[in-house]
Amino acid sequence: MRRLFVSDVHLDAERTDATEQFLAFIDTEAVGAAALYILGDLFEAWVGDDDRDPGNERVCSALRALSRRGVACFALHGNRDFLLGAGFSERTGCRLLCDPVVAELDGERVLLTHGDALCTDDHSYQELRSIVRQRQWQRRFLALPRGSRELLANEARAGSRRHLARTVPYIMDVNVAAVTAAFRAARARRMIHGHTHRPGVHALEVDGAPTERIVLGAWYEQGSYLNWECGRYELRSLPR
Ligand code: MN
Repeated sequence: MRRLFVSDVHLDAERTDATEQFLAFIDTEAVGAAALYILGDLFEAWVGDDDRDPGNERVCSALRALSRRGVACFALHGNRDFLLGAGFSERTGCRLLCDPVVAELDGERVLLTHGDALCTDDHSYQELRSIVRQRQWQRRFLALPRGSRELLANEARAGSRRHLARTVPYIMDVNVAAVTAAFRAARARRMIHGHTHRPGVHALEVDGAPTERIVLGAWYEQGSYLNWECGRYELRSLPR
């Protein structure tokens, strides 16, 4: 039995190679797994469940077929696709989980999160996050015509690129105090997240106990996933 974890696939009509690779990943790797966890930012942008991008639709129906075959599919919101809603769940069969969530995986409490909430040194991003995650803001945004929502999302992405370009790298990474607090609150010793696009495995001592933080990679240049099998976690890359 295998469990697979991915994040930051960033599916985008302008980067069809990631779409093709993710569809191939579903067909070859995920079909044989017990569960697939998508830890946020599956899509580069998602302005509402009325999304009709043909590439996104192919991925949604592939996920639907996967969950119909009995693979349990779960999704978390990322900072790009935090508007995934009930319509997405119906289209794909993916169960949307709250971020953060503690999954009981073979008797172990494992904290799953997208990871953006851990980047507390990035104050301007955290301020924006607290606004756009409000139900009232989302209701108002979703009431706009799709074209307006797409325009606003494009502006937000351009703003995010400018912010990234002028922010020193450590600010874009997780804050150790935030990581420690998250481990404590979850009473977990293992955490899996994405968002920072810095795949790796990090050991940290929390209250005298060893913890492990596994960071998933992004799919911009190549695919990657975390494989769980026979009690072992392994980060794997899928060259393009
Ligand atoms: Mn992200």
